[in-house]
Amino acid sequence: MAQTTSNHTQTVSGWAAHDSSGKITPYTFKRRENGVTDVTIKILYCGICHSDLHYAKDDWGITMYPIVPGHEITGIITKVGSDAKGFKEGDRVGVGCLAASCLDCKYCNTDQENYCENLKFVYNSIFWDGSITYGGYSQMLVVDYRYVVHIPENLPMDAAAPLLCAGITVFNPLKDHNLVSSPGKKIGVVGLGGLGHMAVKFGKAFGHHVTVISTSPSKEAEAKQRLGADDFIISTNPDQLQAARRSLDFVLDTVSADHALLPILELLKVNGTLFIVGAPDKPLQLPAFPLIFGKRSIKGGIIGGIKETQEMLNVCGKHNITCDIELIKANTINEAFERLAKNDVRYRFVIDIANAALTQDI
Ligand code: NAP
Ligand code: ZN
Repeated sequence: MAQTTSNHTQTVSGWAAHDSSGKITPYTFKRRENGVTDVTIKILYCGICHSDLHYAKDDWGITMYPIVPGHEITGIITKVGSDAKGFKEGDRVGVGCLAASCLDCKYCNTDQENYCENLKFVYNSIFWDGSITYGGYSQMLVVDYRYVVHIPENLPMDAAAPLLCAGITVFNPLKDHNLVSSPGKKIGVVGLGGLGHMAVKFGKAFGHHVTVISTSPSKEAEAKQRLGADDFIISTNPDQLQAARRSLDFVLDTVSADHALLPILELLKVNGTLFIVGAPDKPLQLPAFPLIFGKRSIKGGIIGGIKETQEMLNVCGKHNITCDIELIKANTINEAFERLAKNDVRYRFVIDIANAALTQDI
């Protein structure tokens, strides 16, 4: 696979963090020429996932600076390689976290590329050719067609962008636990942020009773009225937690910071499952007793495969499901990062890349 980066001849304007302050500034870099299996995408919108903030600040100790974050990308195809099947110029498309995988292992062969040991993320990965991948906080992307999905015509491109990560990350565990087509279960969603609000929307669209478990009393009214949540538990309120003990079949934990698992596990019925998708930088403490006394399971997962991402988008098209977003200009990414860190977003910032002036726009 050894290649050189000599075909990285296209100059692209974007926005990068350069150290663990996480501060974003304009950044010009190179992308590869469009290869035979590639498509080139003019980026219109890019969501700001909490993972972007973790990476920009090197919370996980794996950041390669400068980093161009962004894995909730929507845009229009401007170039198509001769072998890039199923795409044409002008198509409305999306790209999420994945930029490549080995295409040969048992996970790649069963549409679970997200578990390939050789997967390459759309940013902060060392690509096959030795280059570091740069993400969607930029005006153009070259990507292999096998990691590109179509955005249904009825979905707006800005509010669809976060589906590419937040959407698929919560859709996958619901599907995996037979919660997409078997209604009537009681599910819990811990943390009402970008991922959490999509989990509530999916949970309701799929016919479940949905309980939000949150640290933010201010989110209760809108969770119920706008997102359709049935119940709302404040995770610091012992009476509410006690009243809901052993009531839930399945709980999805989307929290980005350290938090106690014990009260969450106790909300599960006997045999219930806690599925963790939130990725705090510090290890979570795992209490044994609620597992033992409730025969409960705890597991986790990362995003979903590409085929399932397309399936999720089609479901969203059918049910008209999009994300609740706050559209921002590229020159306010730093403010958005600060507000995201303070849990002050309803529920996803999306950068208006299409209307950004070039490198001066920060
Ligand atoms: P987000 O929009 O910031 O939402 C996280 C929510 O967690 C907040 O809205 C808040 O909800 C709750 N929260 C925050 N700090 C908390 C604390 N100290 N204690 C308890 N609750 C707290 O973030 P996001 O974009 O949804 O991402 C959530 C996490 O998932 C991040 O760690 C991200 O890196 C990770 N992630 C994982 C995957 C994957 O594939 N597994 C994919 C995408 C993102 P309340 O106000 O309701 O308490
Ligand atoms: Zn993400």
